[in-house]
Amino acid sequence: MAATQKLACFRLPPLPTIKEIIKLYNLRAEKQLSQNFLLDMRLTDKIVRQAGNLKDAHVCEVGPGPGGLTRPILKAGAADLLVVEKDTRFIPGLQPFLEHERFFMNVCVCISVPPNLHIIGNLPFSVSTPLIIKWLEQMSNRTGCFMFGRTRLTLTFQKEVAERLTASTGSRQRSRLSVMAQYLCTVKNCFTIPGCAFVPKPNVDVGVVHFTPLAQPQIQQPFKLVERIVKNAFQFRRKHCRRGLEMLFPESQRQELTEELLCSADVDPTLRPTEISISEFRALADAYSKLCEENQGLIDYDFREELKLKHQAKRHINSKLLKLSY
Ligand code: SAM
Repeated sequence: MAATQKLACFRLPPLPTIKEIIKLYNLRAEKQLSQNFLLDMRLTDKIVRQAGNLKDAHVCEVGPGPGGLTRPILKAGAADLLVVEKDTRFIPGLQPFLEHERFFMNVCVCISVPPNLHIIGNLPFSVSTPLIIKWLEQMSNRTGCFMFGRTRLTLTFQKEVAERLTASTGSRQRSRLSVMAQYLCTVKNCFTIPGCAFVPKPNVDVGVVHFTPLAQPQIQQPFKLVERIVKNAFQFRRKHCRRGLEMLFPESQRQELTEELLCSADVDPTLRPTEISISEFRALADAYSKLCEENQGLIDYDFREELKLKHQAKRHINSKLLKLSY
């Protein structure tokens, strides 16, 4: 009992709360950087729990801000933590609870067992959406943080984007993003955080999404080729998929090559883009890759370029006709 009392006397003062850190370092949220902070530690704990077991894991947190997520990551026993923050005002506030930790990536290239790597971040939506596309491409090429293995990601998105990322075949929210993410990962929409949980409050609610890269991507074609197929298929969302897919081909061969693509992929041309499954996208990507091998220059074809040239030629002819009529 006496010993307990004695220990209690020497207990270190508690770390300041995130709210106190913000006040102490005068960390007013910058609108230009879309800063909205999470102050409720139960919520930040819950987000970090979605990442899975972080004991001895190597973690990279993007956009730590005042440190709402940083603390539960360290508490979960991460071996290393790399923080990437654009706004240097946050460094002094992060220092007190990072200084006892090794907070840089410490990964050796010559490892035989893949390290347990995680990326965690509550980022502005204008950053998280382009970043996830970049990370998906790296995942497909096994470059960047995916060169060591199946690095998992736990990230926040605008609620509607989170729903699109996890939308299944045939659902209203099914989009390009759903296909690109799901052919490479198992994607889970973990939970929604109401906008009112942030300070200042954003105009939208937020979804926490967890990505686990698949051991083998469901489509075994280069990322850019898959992206091309998916982008074209979704070009006319409400029309039959044939309408968007035909724009993959030059006008002179459009009908013939579209027919060949759909036939060899065995995909119904009257499906809506939202109704095409991942295995059908795989068949389309394989068939398109074969067509590209057989038709030189097809892979670089851009219907917008062809349209632009056509308009230019038309304008040129019209101006000549005008001159002649004078
Ligand atoms: N993680 C903190 C939280 O949950 O309270 C802060 C979230 S706030 C929405 C986003 C953070 O990302 C800010 O600290 C902002 O400065 C940072 N940020 C914005 N753009 C960034 C970028 N390109 N790279 C790294 N951090 C960025």
